[in-house]
Amino acid sequence: MESISVFEIIKVGIGPSSSHTMGPWNAAEMFLDEIKRTNSLQNVKEVFVEFFGSLAKTGVGHGTDIAAMLGLAGENFKEIDTDKIDEKIAHIKNTSQLNLGGEKVLPFVYGENLILNMDKSLDFHPNGMIFKAVFNNGEILERDYYSVGGGFVATKEDNSIKDNCIRTVYPCHKGEDIIKYCEKLGVEKFSDLVYINEEAWRTKEETRAEALYIWQQIKECIYKGISKEGILPGGLNVSRRAADFNRKLLGEKSYQNLDEWLQAVKNSDKNFNQITRWISCFALAVNEENASFGRIITAPTNGASGVIPAVLMYSQTFTEFNTEEDIVKFILVAGEIGTLFKKNATISAAMGGCQAEIGVSSAMAAAGLTEISGGTPAQVLMAAEIAMEHHLGLTCDPIGGLVQIPCIERNSMGAMKAITAAHIALESDPSKARVSLDQVIKSMWETALDMNNKYKETSEGGLAVAVNVAEC
Ligand code: SF4
Repeated sequence: MESISVFEIIKVGIGPSSSHTMGPWNAAEMFLDEIKRTNSLQNVKEVFVEFFGSLAKTGVGHGTDIAAMLGLAGENFKEIDTDKIDEKIAHIKNTSQLNLGGEKVLPFVYGENLILNMDKSLDFHPNGMIFKAVFNNGEILERDYYSVGGGFVATKEDNSIKDNCIRTVYPCHKGEDIIKYCEKLGVEKFSDLVYINEEAWRTKEETRAEALYIWQQIKECIYKGISKEGILPGGLNVSRRAADFNRKLLGEKSYQNLDEWLQAVKNSDKNFNQITRWISCFALAVNEENASFGRIITAPTNGASGVIPAVLMYSQTFTEFNTEEDIVKFILVAGEIGTLFKKNATISAAMGGCQAEIGVSSAMAAAGLTEISGGTPAQVLMAAEIAMEHHLGLTCDPIGGLVQIPCIERNSMGAMKAITAAHIALESDPSKARVSLDQVIKSMWETALDMNNKYKETSEGGLAVAVNVAEC
């Protein structure tokens, strides 16, 4: 088994879904590369994309169609001006033309060149898609891709994460590996081991800089979220609430920019009720941004992208564990825990329901908080285990296929459980624990395999059918 960098699990993304937006976007980019490798964009006469299974069923709500069109047009989701997305899509639809890779204008009719197959699935994975290019000389290039969660894309031939899987010096594929190598190397902190292993990809200084870049993006995302009012897109008429939370929590305190806002939060009341409201506010802010095609930090998915920011912001504003080094350690440890779930279970809701998204993000955040609060490696693993234990079996049932209800509030819940799990672990003796992290990951995977497909991001069960979308 190969290792996965923490920055493959915690990374810059775009809303609303890692598997349904970023995965198809990445797949479109891979297909463009394949055309360039085997032929030329200039020789393409027509291009087609078809979605299957969960990608088709909840594709419109998750922006799967939009992601594919922008990916085919050569746009990069890390750089695109998110305020221009609507305009770019309207242009493609209104002109029935798509500028392939930004180099070749082609006819492109939505519904003909882009098809959502509601009643068909590909065998390999519930999130399947087929891209096809027809060339001027009649040749055809066709590729199938599978969005396997967290923005990762696999092919039938290669189920690994291209270019990013390598063997680290002290490979940690299980919780028990982490304990083994910490003892062997004599390192007291889990994050020290992660630092060492991440040197397989980059220097320690670069790892530190990347983690702080992630933190900057988190701060900006929360700040954007608390600065916007109104209704989220998609037709459910869900109101943004983070701005209202922020206003009430800050009272008379004023601010002009992100840094002043952060200071105002730090100076606000620190009683239990206020702090828990702030934690909800941070999570709501991120997930409201995610629901409206904003730039977020995927951790490990977009639907669950508010949990780690909420817990990390909580630690920075309301605890004494608030140095830059604490930020880096939190992110490294949280990311490493995410890799264990990715390698031994799943981080795809289409495979495992919401336990694979909110459950995993809560486990990651619990581990990060325990690390910076002084926990031993065993306590860090224990915190992750506790957080996941109380998400086992959580289903994925987004109303209207939109990452809004129950997703947005579920991030607040995941953050609160993460903090509680960290506190329990910090007060406990892990040698007396009856359930290990490895056992809970195994249970999560077995639960995923047993879970009815209705509860795996198909919008065919649970809240998704209990609530009539037209009534919302
Ligand atoms: S219910 Fe959970 S897994 Fe499903 S889309 Fe929402 S956050 Fe993601």
